[in-house]
Amino acid sequence: MGAPRPSAALFGGTFDPLHNGHLRMAIEVKEALRLPRVVLLPAHHPPHKPRQPLSEAGHRLAMASAAVAQLSGFEVSDMEVRHEGPSYSLTTVREFSRAEPGVDWVFVMGADSFAEISTWHRYEELLAACDTVLLPRHGTPLTPSPPAGLRIEKEEPHCYSWTGESYRLPEGRRLYCPSLPALDISSRSIREKVRSGQCIRGLVPPEVEEYIAGHGLYLGAREEGRP
Ligand code: ATP
Repeated sequence: MGAPRPSAALFGGTFDPLHNGHLRMAIEVKEALRLPRVVLLPAHHPPHKPRQPLSEAGHRLAMASAAVAQLSGFEVSDMEVRHEGPSYSLTTVREFSRAEPGVDWVFVMGADSFAEISTWHRYEELLAACDTVLLPRHGTPLTPSPPAGLRIEKEEPHCYSWTGESYRLPEGRRLYCPSLPALDISSRSIREKVRSGQCIRGLVPPEVEEYIAGHGLYLGAREEGRP
């Protein structure tokens, strides 16, 4: 029968703001893996992603919470934003595992994040701490390319209904790659649209659209770097 099936997901991100790409993917993963719970984890400040100052944690938490308020099985944790300093996913996974030892956590990340995982704090330990789900991301190949030295082996589909591929990681953990269409939405594109006065309807949940307008978020100067 293989490894135990995950019973809850941790989905970390800056969520500045949470958008429909995040939300739709989280729902798909919940259903594909038949998870009773998905916990969204707004990050304090991800060390692998230095960029312009993030919106206040309170705003990012409020938007994520409003987006999932009516969705059963979804919750938002302030664990990472409560800690001063950078957020390390490894620390977070360990804290959740300690707090709820009966839960088999699975960590969710975009394929673009996995492509850069070697820049993450002690990433081998993170991949050994729990199973991982990769979300398809526009512009990143679907087949995961692991960092040099990390061996992954494709495995046969397992016991429950599953469309997608899965791989074995060195410590016996799984890397799930559900077959889902990529949704080309990013937080940055939302921020840019708001800044230039464009409509973001359909790209973010209505509660998030309302929150952004109500609090005047993302009206500052253009961001540097990639378009
Ligand atoms: P930004 O544009 O500010 O860099 P983002 O849209 O990538 O942000 P994050 O909050 O950084 O959003 O993303 C959290 C996690 O969700 C990351 O692992 C990221 O790869 C993944 N993710 C974000 N958007 C999507 C999407 N449209 N489809 C699949 N995964 C996504």
